[in-house]
Amino acid sequence: MAWSQPQSKPRTRTLLVVDDREANLVAMEALLGDGDWQVHTVNSGEAALQALLDLDVELVLLDVQMPGMDGFEVARLMRGSPHARYTPIIFVSAIAHTRESVLRGYATGAVDFILKPFDPQVLKHKINTLLSHEHNRRDLQLLSQQLDSARAFNASVLNNAAEGILVVGEDGFINFANPAIAKMLHASVDDLQGTALIKHLASPQMPMAWRDTDFYQHWRSGNTYRLHEAQLFTANGDTLPVALSSSPLPRQQRSMVVIALDMSVVRSLHVQLETQAVTDSLTGLLNRRGFHQALDSALARVDRNGKRMAILYIDLDGFKRINDSLGHDAGDEILCRVARVLEACMRPYDIIARMGGDEFTALLDSLDHPEDAARVAEKLIELISVRHTIDGTDVTLGASIGIANFPDCGQSVEELLRSADMAMYEAKRNGRQQYRFFSGEMNGRAHARLMMEENLRSTIERNGFALAYQPQVVLETGELRGFEALLRWNYAGRGSVEPSVFIPLLEETRLIDRVGEWALREGLAQCRDWRERFGDKLVLSFNVSPVQFRRAGLIDELRRLLDEYQLDPRQLELEVTEGALMEDLEQSCDKLRQLRELGVRVAVDDFGTGYSSLAYLRHFDLDTLKIDRLFIANMLDSPRDAAVVSTIIDLGRNLGLEVIAEGVETLAQREWLIDHDCHVMQGFLVAPGLAVEDALEFPRTIDWLNLEYRPAG
Ligand code: C2E
Ligand code: CA
Ligand code: CA
Repeated sequence: MAWSQPQSKPRTRTLLVVDDREANLVAMEALLGDGDWQVHTVNSGEAALQALLDLDVELVLLDVQMPGMDGFEVARLMRGSPHARYTPIIFVSAIAHTRESVLRGYATGAVDFILKPFDPQVLKHKINTLLSHEHNRRDLQLLSQQLDSARAFNASVLNNAAEGILVVGEDGFINFANPAIAKMLHASVDDLQGTALIKHLASPQMPMAWRDTDFYQHWRSGNTYRLHEAQLFTANGDTLPVALSSSPLPRQQRSMVVIALDMSVVRSLHVQLETQAVTDSLTGLLNRRGFHQALDSALARVDRNGKRMAILYIDLDGFKRINDSLGHDAGDEILCRVARVLEACMRPYDIIARMGGDEFTALLDSLDHPEDAARVAEKLIELISVRHTIDGTDVTLGASIGIANFPDCGQSVEELLRSADMAMYEAKRNGRQQYRFFSGEMNGRAHARLMMEENLRSTIERNGFALAYQPQVVLETGELRGFEALLRWNYAGRGSVEPSVFIPLLEETRLIDRVGEWALREGLAQCRDWRERFGDKLVLSFNVSPVQFRRAGLIDELRRLLDEYQLDPRQLELEVTEGALMEDLEQSCDKLRQLRELGVRVAVDDFGTGYSSLAYLRHFDLDTLKIDRLFIANMLDSPRDAAVVSTIIDLGRNLGLEVIAEGVETLAQREWLIDHDCHVMQGFLVAPGLAVEDALEFPRTIDWLNLEYRPAG
């Protein structure tokens, strides 16, 4: 505690005897020596005044007749000095005084007279009486000092408290207000005192009569009342959020102390946190969570008014390219521009959100016709799909939009969003830059997909995939070059599912990573087991999805597997599509260089179908080109396809790459390819993908004149 009560000093009761005659002093000492006090003697008025300064004198026996300064004069001076002002005096005099001089003595504040010679008992009695008066006076003085400082302490607590403090009488009127509450309400203490408490409360709504309020009711029952969310009016008409507590004071005071905590900072922090949680900091639109909330409450409303509404799921086309090539700042800038376009297109009560990345959503409320949503989508695509200039660079952007109507495409937030998302995906598949309504057919497909997805997952868990091995044969000699490992999946007893169906699914769900890793391990283990049969020059080719190819850990994983199965890196070939290579040129070059260092072969799969620029081919560390089987299938009938095939073969020769023709089904195709100097082929002419047992039986060199491995059908 900062404040402590003043302590009374231990008392040494001192009597001061003043007389100019030595003999009188001695006699007085002898007379008073046996009392429970100390006697101090001085022989002049001056000495007396000095002694009063030095000692804590409680009573003075003062001789009236002294040379120089007489007793009356000493008394007068004593009364002028702060610490001797109240010290009692007994005048001692040898002569009887006139009434006038006695009155003069009393007027100096003296308390008594005694005439010499005197009765010692009377003197002692007088001394005792005066001393006990003096003690009472001193106690009183001490008490009042203590009271003063206690009051000052309380006042300072109230004045300096940061919380607003009011004392409110049982009648509901403010008796006391501290400066903090006055400051909070932009008023003065005087403005507040004498006013009714409920006049200051903006919320909650108070009953009209004070006695009906919770303040009064709690006070009556002797309880503290707390109001966490209250608002007080300030003098300038605003409101201030506060937390209030009201506690009864001791009963006889018939009032309560109300403490008000300024909550404005805390409240605005809350509001800030709440808005942060539902808004996207980049664009200022709602975020995913905000959109969910908004949609949720819109659904609750729409149920009642029966109006239609639509969800738009908007995904930007070409955003990733901008982000990758111009950097994230440019990407951010584009996202903000799109946000502003969205805002400009929508009506004020439509809700717009950024769901993350380059995906936006809009909730179109109160539509008259579902087609109205299409009109908005069209306009959006038109406005977004323009040339943007970012840092002096022109970029083109597009948008694909999926639309889900309420209530046809879903009743819940999740359903509606999923439907709109699915429709958006459909718009993308149909060539982007367009919108699609969600349809029941989409739903059916989505359902089937969901089931397949589930099945894929459990297949992974059960280790239910298999590899088929399709031989690759040197065209001229019939020598076995190697096998391409092809993934097989037997789906829920319904026979094998086309890889072209389930592989995109695996890619979308990112499960391809795990399956790809499994395929590598399985194939390489097989390759090691085949060493005795096929030697250590056999090449095993694996299809690598773009996702897998981009993965950072790919090289390390390959190195580990090669090590584990003791294989020559040249035995392993990765087949990558043109699309995967072109997606990020810099990264691809880097990956290919690392693969080259590792010694692993790389083939470009389905070559000719993609959009790779031949110019780039020079920069890539590649080993093999695989001509897409569509060209092979058509080359004998279509000069155009024949030209493509022979160009690829030439290109391969010029760049020192091995060229493999895929999908060779006839001897005539084989002949043509030999004539055009193609090295290797793969196709049903020789064999389809073979089960492990069949692959093991495959000859190291085939006899072209006696082909045993024709496909069954
Ligand atoms: P792809 O890489 O072009 O594989 C060759 C495909 O052509 C295989 O189809 C094969 O069975 C088929 N094929 C081979 N010879 C002939 C022929 O003479 N005539 C005809 N009509 N077709 C022939 P499959 O096994 O259905 O695989 C399809 C695609 O699935 C593959 O195309 C490949 O892109 C992908 N794929 C297969 N296995 C994997 C894998 O393990 N991982 C990844 N990421 N993709 C794989
Ligand atoms: Ca392939
Ligand atoms: Ca291929």
